[in-house]
Amino acid sequence: MIIYIRKKTALFMFSSLLILGFSLGAFRLAVHPNMENWKKQRIVITGIETNEKVIALTFDDGPDTENTSLILDILKKHDAKATFFVLGQRAKKYPNLIKRMAEDGHEVGNHSFSHPDFNHKDRKSIREEIVKTNQIILRLTGKKPLFFRPPGGYLSYEMVDLVMKENMIIGYWSYIQDPKDWQGRKGEDIAAYIINHIKPGQIIILHDGVPNGVETARALDIFIPKLKKEGYRFVTMTELIKAEKSNNALP
Ligand SMILES: [Zn+2]
Repeated sequence: MIIYIRKKTALFMFSSLLILGFSLGAFRLAVHPNMENWKKQRIVITGIETNEKVIALTFDDGPDTENTSLILDILKKHDAKATFFVLGQRAKKYPNLIKRMAEDGHEVGNHSFSHPDFNHKDRKSIREEIVKTNQIILRLTGKKPLFFRPPGGYLSYEMVDLVMKENMIIGYWSYIQDPKDWQGRKGEDIAAYIINHIKPGQIIILHDGVPNGVETARALDIFIPKLKKEGYRFVTMTELIKAEKSNNALP
């Protein structure tokens, strides 16, 4: 009996730890205490207020030799523009994919050099991750990226300060438009999720740099033509921000 109780207690403690760990993780990922201020100051962008049917599609963690080419083909087929948040080390390895993104009229954003856990990095290495990747993108596209998307959505005062010093904006995403394509979902399900949650001014987060990228590409082929019929346009992050300015949505 005593052993039984102890086992039960141990199990309870273990579950509590799991829940606590999860909560802390979610806190770190989604809700930094200063998030609302940064959003008001337009230092962190999670979407825009507009009635214009504009959407920013974004792809993380690439480029990937197979998935990125496939996604670029489908975007071209439907005449949709997007923003690719690339990793510096992959951009260096596959320069032609970065060049093609730019040639096709897409925007290239910075997603760090090596996708580290910034929670365990000092100021110097965070800066290095950002600056090194900017240099690689500038060399390949002729443009210094305007947007930085931190791996895992990690935010800290220090990181935001470093991004501002680089004259960049943190390109987050709209919480409701995170279909978690990287979790191995089918293209049909990813597309249905996006269509069901669509609203003007959103930033949709997808991934070209993960193994499930083929399903992400299939999803694009389903939801882009459907939403275009409803009057939606797919624009780069920079164009999305311009749409906000033209609507005088800024405070
Ligand atoms: Zn990532």
